[in-house]
Amino acid sequence: MTTEAGEKPVQIPRTLTVRELADLLGVTGVQIVKTLIASSVMADVTKTIDYDTAAMIATQFGFQPTQGGEVLEDPAASATIDLFADETPDAAASLRPRHPVVALLGHVDHGKTSLLDLVRDTRVTAGEAGGITQHIGAYQAMCNDQLITFLDTPGHEAFTQMRARGVGATDIAVLVVAADDGVMPQTIEAIDHIRAAGVPMIVALNKIDLPNANPDRVKSQLTEREVVIEEYGGDVPLVPVSAVTREGLDNLLETILLVAELQDLKGNPDRIADGVVLEAELDRRQGSRTTVLVQRGTLRPGATLLVGETWGKVKALLDFRGRRITAAGPSTPVSILGIQDIAEAGDRFRVMKNEREAKAIYESAKRVRETAAAKVGHAASLDALFGEISRGTTRELNLILKTDVQGSVDPIRTALEQLSGDEVRVKVIHGAVGAVTESDVNLALAAKGIVLTFNTEAAPGAAKLAAAEGIEIRRYDVIYKVVEEVDAALSGLLEPIVVDVVDAQAEVLQIFAIRRLGNVAGSRAIEGTVRRDALVRVLRGDQRLAEGKIASLRRFQNDAREVQAGQEFGVAVEGFQDFEPGDRLEFFHQEQQSRAITRGRTPPATANRT
Ligand code: GDP
Repeated sequence: MTTEAGEKPVQIPRTLTVRELADLLGVTGVQIVKTLIASSVMADVTKTIDYDTAAMIATQFGFQPTQGGEVLEDPAASATIDLFADETPDAAASLRPRHPVVALLGHVDHGKTSLLDLVRDTRVTAGEAGGITQHIGAYQAMCNDQLITFLDTPGHEAFTQMRARGVGATDIAVLVVAADDGVMPQTIEAIDHIRAAGVPMIVALNKIDLPNANPDRVKSQLTEREVVIEEYGGDVPLVPVSAVTREGLDNLLETILLVAELQDLKGNPDRIADGVVLEAELDRRQGSRTTVLVQRGTLRPGATLLVGETWGKVKALLDFRGRRITAAGPSTPVSILGIQDIAEAGDRFRVMKNEREAKAIYESAKRVRETAAAKVGHAASLDALFGEISRGTTRELNLILKTDVQGSVDPIRTALEQLSGDEVRVKVIHGAVGAVTESDVNLALAAKGIVLTFNTEAAPGAAKLAAAEGIEIRRYDVIYKVVEEVDAALSGLLEPIVVDVVDAQAEVLQIFAIRRLGNVAGSRAIEGTVRRDALVRVLRGDQRLAEGKIASLRRFQNDAREVQAGQEFGVAVEGFQDFEPGDRLEFFHQEQQSRAITRGRTPPATANRT
């Protein structure tokens, strides 16, 4: 089918449907769909595609595309394209058992690293000269002649970051809880993240060698968190271990294999390989080194890959010990030499047909990204979720709740969850004290949820991530308001909301007392543009100290209308004097978001049947 590019000229509009493209090219819709699927774009003939995608297809059919002609469809309807999703089903006969991929999660200092090191030292290096000198983000251990892949970046940040990007790399989560310390805030966070991911959990009750180890206390703490261990009639295995005495280690590994067996993990080693990036770095001698977990298919040297926002040809494959290998199948971590650029952890990769295809897709994806950059991606807002609820596509409202004090978590959670009705379940998937973190935003992204804060703020990185990903963070300082608004959203009665759009961030460097104005914060703009008519918020740690209008904005003694990132300036805030060096200033304006959908609740699925 594919001939040399550039033979027949064709004009393609900015957007069109697959069927329209087929007509333009004089081929069948099915041929286009097949070509799209081969390029990892899932489509049917009614799907609207954009010029770049259409042009890529046209090239493959031997056309020389130029943009032009009538726009046949509303550009807003143009579907976002997932270059990496390939849902072509695997025939049952092609599936082979694959070994489990395991991640360790838990509170800091509870022993994740020690356990990972212990497994590596006892189960990998045995019989190997030299051992492993480099950490590449994952390794494989042997137990009873079976392999287990351990993800070597402990903590739920990596775990949730991947899930936020739609990548489920982990088959089994091991929750590490220190027997002396018990369930701690990050343990709870980890539990919530594992639950949201729907991944089976094993509890490793670590540090049982310590004299003050108190397994019973931990078990009941877990029960309070609805992690019911097998001993108590639940389905979560708990294995007492010690990373120091090695007690329980075999038991832990065997339990992992047992849980894996129940999951019946399978993969097709013969399909086009894809998977996820675990780590990527620049090696001074070897250039970029991209460590991936192969999830499906088999990766071999010579393959051309699209990796996140970059691409490359596999020059060499190295296993986790740094040895060259010639094939890496499902569940195998492997380092790739030869990728053009440094990909990001959580990026997906996929084998392409050839270099030309990889380059073409890379270029068109880049253009798509550039034009899409201004558009908000996932749009998880209370409003959008309500839209989905009323259309019946969502039956759950997932909330992440952050508060200033522990005492308010449970009452708000209970009040919110009581709003659940027959049609929609309201679920606080994570409730905790403190500022909103990037990990919260990633959880929201993964679970299609929104973040509600009560008397607390978003950390700057989290606010930025939320803005970039279109995750809504709604702030409240009165409990009934939280409940009222969520209830209103569920009933489709939500007032148009006023959202704060942050335009600039600055840091206070020093304070000047100026006659008539009072205290002026000598500050530096870190990013964005500070405008004279902006609203400003003064933040210290998690605390919002003040919010109001700018009383004065100056650069070099002169009134300024705008201050750009990198510049220093003085600002006075109406009604606020108590600046301290190190305070953060957030400059924002308010926008009204109109409600797109105002329909009432959908009747239960069965109600209309006659
Ligand atoms: P992580 O933050 O969860 O990765 O925890 P680490 O593995 O860094 O362990 C924190 C501390 O606990 C270190 O000082 C370890 O030596 C110690 N530790 C880890 N596991 C055990 C254990 O089973 N018994 C005892 N006594 N100490 C442990």
